[in-house]
Parts: sequence; structure tokens; C-alpha cells
Amino acid sequence: MHTCKIGLNSHQPKIKEHHHHHDHPEHDHEHHHHDHRTQDKKVLKIALAITFVTMIAEFVFGFLSNSLALISDAIHMFTHSFALIISLVAIIIASKKAPLDKTFGYYRVEVLAAFVNGLTIILSIVWILYEAVDRYFNPGVIDLKTAGIVAIVGLIVNIVTGVILMQGDRENVNLKSAFIHMLSDALSSVAIIIGYVVIYYTSWYFIDIILALLVAFVIGKWAFTVLKQSTNTLMESSPLDINEVKKFIEKKHPQVLDIHDIHIWEITQDMYNMTAHILIDKEDIQAYEKILHDVNHSLEDKYSIVHVILQLEFKK
Ligand SMILES: [Zn+2]
Ligand SMILES: [Zn+2]
Repeated sequence: MHTCKIGLNSHQPKIKEHHHHHDHPEHDHEHHHHDHRTQDKKVLKIALAITFVTMIAEFVFGFLSNSLALISDAIHMFTHSFALIISLVAIIIASKKAPLDKTFGYYRVEVLAAFVNGLTIILSIVWILYEAVDRYFNPGVIDLKTAGIVAIVGLIVNIVTGVILMQGDRENVNLKSAFIHMLSDALSSVAIIIGYVVIYYTSWYFIDIILALLVAFVIGKWAFTVLKQSTNTLMESSPLDINEVKKFIEKKHPQVLDIHDIHIWEITQDMYNMTAHILIDKEDIQAYEKILHDVNHSLEDKYSIVHVILQLEFKK
């Protein structure tokens, strides 16, 4: 379902409201993160509670009924629980004041946690593959009635939590991908239920292994995305096309003759910082304050970069 994606992307601090007080000597930086927070927190807590209980049920009945597909679905639920916990912790942390040495706050905790979640999923997949091979050579009987009922409950829970989470972030741009995630998760749950029906009539127990591999594939795809995104953030890769930013600034501000040595990085998703050098004519030295101000605002309006540090250079 939904949560994986939502867990990673949706509850990031929005710092559009970040205030620049250019007129004040102390250059205050105020971050406002109160929007929808309480609502999001409540929604996340409910989703986490439902997901966690279902996960336990799927684990217990997965082992009791001997269905690897159901155990794999429980692992999938675990990854959702993990993502939901990350989102919750991120919201709680965002409301806390960081100590003086944490000049970038605790936002990266969320990125680190997402990275760990990605690694956990990879380990889970290795376990599923191992079990799949083992069960292929040593097939056992599956209690289809128990497994079937729990799988149906799992499907309902997936849909319900997906719907609940959507209430939390109506403004969220990642809603579409979250919805696609929910849909593909629901499809894998449906596949498991259909698979059980087929096993019931044919006694082809290896279908359970194929279904488990299908779930492994679904969570594997997600783990790949999570690891890619979090690694990029931790490596301080630029979330924006550097050349595009360069062209945009040079075109929009003719007084900026050149902008170079550009560094753009994200503290956490959608929270961008930037440093660069800008070259202006010596004649424009009197106008430097206005140039800096204008460039700052262009970057904020166009790319939502709110922390910009520009070093001036003069062309003689
Ligand atoms: Zn999922
Ligand atoms: Zn330079």
C-alpha cells in the first residue's frame, strides 16, 4: 500500500514559509512546520496501529498455516510499519529544538532511517529466497482456510490504511505514487487470495512459493527506490539539474555574468541548500545588495531553495 511511499516522502518539513528577514542584522531564520502536523500525526498513529496488529497476525498465522506467501506479506507489513514509524518520528523531531551543534537540525535522521529500512527489506528478501528454495525441495501442506482468512483481512487493512493516510496529506504531491503503491500492494494481496483458491482445487502447493516471490519482487522494487533516494541524499548529490539552474539564473539576471562552483544538496527531502560564486561587473558594485536579493528570491520562487549562500566576484 501506500505507506511505504508516504512514509518516505510525504511528511517532510515544508519550508516554503521560511522567512528571510533581510532587513534585520541578525538575519533570523524561522522555520514553520506546524501545518497539518497534528492531523498527520493522528492519521499516522491510527495507520501504524492497524498495520502493526495485522503484521503480527500475518506472522503468527503465516507460520501456523505454513504459508510462505503470508509470511512474506507480513514482512511487507513490517516494512510499512517501519516507514510509518519513520514518518511519525520525523514529525516529532521537527517540532523539537535541536542543540546548537546540530545546525541542520535532526532532519537527516529520517534519511538515515529510510536507508536502514531499505537494507532491512533487502535482508528480508534474502530470507524469503532462502525459504522459497528450501520449501521447493521440502514441500509441506498449507492450512488454506486459516491462511485465506488472514490474507483477506490483510487486503482489507491495506485498502483501509491507504484511505486513512490519504486524509492526512491532501496537498501532497506524492499522493499519486502513494496511490500506485497502494494499488500494487492490493494487487499482490488479491494474487495471494486467488493463488490459495487455485491451490485448494489443484493441490499445487508450489504456487505459494511463486506468490512469496511475487511479494519479494514488490518490496524489492520499493527497497531499491528507498535506497537510491536515501543514498543520493547522504552522498549530497544535487536534487536539481545544476546546468539548468545555472542557465536560469544567467538568463533571468543579466547582471550576473557567470554563476559557478554551484553546490546544491538536500538536508532531507524537499529541503534544499545551495552555495555558489557569482561574477558581476565592477560597475555594478553599488547594486550588489539588490542583485543578491533578486537572485535569492529567484532561487526560492523557482526551485524552493531557501538557504542560499552566494559569494561575489568582480569582473574588472
Ligand atoms: Zn507496500
Ligand atoms: Zn569563483
